[in-house]
Amino acid sequence: MKSVDRDLVELSDLAPEAIRKLLHRADQMRTQQVPLWRDSVRHVGLIFAEPSTRTSLSFVAAIDRLGAYPLQLDAENSSFSKGETLLDTASTLESIGAESIVVRDGNEMSARSLAEHCDAGVINAGGGTRAHPTQGLLDALTLLDEFGDLEGKTVGIVGDVLRSRVARSDIVAFQALGARVVLVAPDYFQDKTLSEAGVELESKLDDALPHLDAIQMLRIQKERGDGDPEHNLQNYVRDYRLDERRLALARPSLVVLHPGPMNREVEITSGVADGPRSRIRQQVANGVPVRMAVVERALGQASG
Ligand code: ASP
Repeated sequence: MKSVDRDLVELSDLAPEAIRKLLHRADQMRTQQVPLWRDSVRHVGLIFAEPSTRTSLSFVAAIDRLGAYPLQLDAENSSFSKGETLLDTASTLESIGAESIVVRDGNEMSARSLAEHCDAGVINAGGGTRAHPTQGLLDALTLLDEFGDLEGKTVGIVGDVLRSRVARSDIVAFQALGARVVLVAPDYFQDKTLSEAGVELESKLDDALPHLDAIQMLRIQKERGDGDPEHNLQNYVRDYRLDERRLALARPSLVVLHPGPMNREVEITSGVADGPRSRIRQQVANGVPVRMAVVERALGQASG
């Protein structure tokens, strides 16, 4: 039987200590002698049934750097588009030699079900609105780079929380490192059930901003429906967009994150996204060492 700690379905499956260990290993990966495997050929399958730029490219870069090989399924031009199930697709990849499978799917339970059925270590690369664990890890690594420690820090997550898998994984990652998390959203984008996870809910960005050490701006998930009819884009931009005027309310040390893709001028202005407080490029760069650590673990080769 596969050892369960090769899968990464949701960060909440991991103890805070295991999250910290993975982040430590990701940090080591930046200076790790690679390739890790010279004498054996290791394959990692990638199934992206939803669009991706940063996540898929940085998984491929991570796999390359480790010295493994990606088996990348082109979802539109594969039998997946002929109706083959995700499980059959994964089992095909395993038969070809994949020892780990990276999966992104609109169905939030897909990665869980593959993890239960596959011998390969399964990594969730974004499942519905529920989880995006490697994004949570890379956001946490970016904040660790900035602050060294998140104990006593307050991180705001702003916008379409309701449909954000990033928000859900960030909460677990940031809390594992001791941060306080505030979710800032209008009622129609807030997820009140998350208060059970020990986060604070706030509806006014201007009130929350002065208390934050870091802020994660979320994209409105238009592809997941129009949301509440009360949602009016102009009002949203007026009350929640992070622009330079609003940034003046924040501490001078505030750092700005965005998971991408950005809708410039909607949730964030270009002046802020490309300005001195932005750590958005650092987030993308950190995706590679984080995914190296996660793939190493999925292959059952954790050595850190
Ligand atoms: N790229 C992130 C995700 O896949 C964030 C987003 O799409 O807004 O969830």
